[in-house]
Amino acid sequence: MNPSELQFLERLLTTPSPTGYESEGVKVWKQYTEQFSDEIITDAYGSCAARLQVGEENSTVLIEAHCDEIGMVVQHISEQGFVYVNKLGGSDSTIARAKKVIIHNRNGQVSGVTGNTAIHLQTNKNGGGKEPSWKDIYVDIGVSSREEALELVQIGDPITYEASFEFLNDDIITARALDNRIGGFIIAEVLRKLSLERDRLAVNVIAVNSVQEEVGGFGARMMTYRLDPDIALVTDVTHATDTPGIDQKEHGTVLDLVFNMVEPIIPVLFVI
Ligand SMILES: [Zn+2]
Repeated sequence: MNPSELQFLERLLTTPSPTGYESEGVKVWKQYTEQFSDEIITDAYGSCAARLQVGEENSTVLIEAHCDEIGMVVQHISEQGFVYVNKLGGSDSTIARAKKVIIHNRNGQVSGVTGNTAIHLQTNKNGGGKEPSWKDIYVDIGVSSREEALELVQIGDPITYEASFEFLNDDIITARALDNRIGGFIIAEVLRKLSLERDRLAVNVIAVNSVQEEVGGFGARMMTYRLDPDIALVTDVTHATDTPGIDQKEHGTVLDLVFNMVEPIIPVLFVI
């Protein structure tokens, strides 16, 4: 991976893009793909498409990745100023405790830490011994009253986990929102590499970074009706089954192939 690819990947992964509020993440993807595409198309939902057009008569292949990520949303603010949350998309409440989070609003970002009754103080009455559900999770934003909290956040503001990006070794990264910013990276890189060999390209190619997958796939649906491709290749993450506790006889064999996915897609588009 060269430095500009790496910088693009890092920007994608560290730019919050909670479902329904994806504009910052889409902006990063658009700024990269508009450098080598013939046309950029956006729609009212906020999805973005980048097109390589070789001819009117050629078939069109759509390659897609959703740009939104799961998170939380502000549901209630207590008299003491604690911010109670609910899930945004398919978030898991059991991993939401003791995390640094960012609450996003029209004025910018507010930092906080997710809390839950400490295990030392838990009893049967306050959920002791059980995994927390969303009603048990709150965010401490460092204020002492509801009035103070309301100066910083509003009911309905989206929340994401703090940005992180790190190489664990030469090939493996850890980051928030790999689902599915890594797909956005793959389709952008496929389009960039195709643009360098467009004389060999047999089809028109449209890469789509679509919004609102986590709540129903609405962005991809709207773009697909509008662009009307002949074929679509859709990228997303799934669960690796080479981790402890998963029976491959039941779930199949899924290994980490993420960084290898750009190259296999490209030859297909030369021969379709
Ligand atoms: Zn996904």
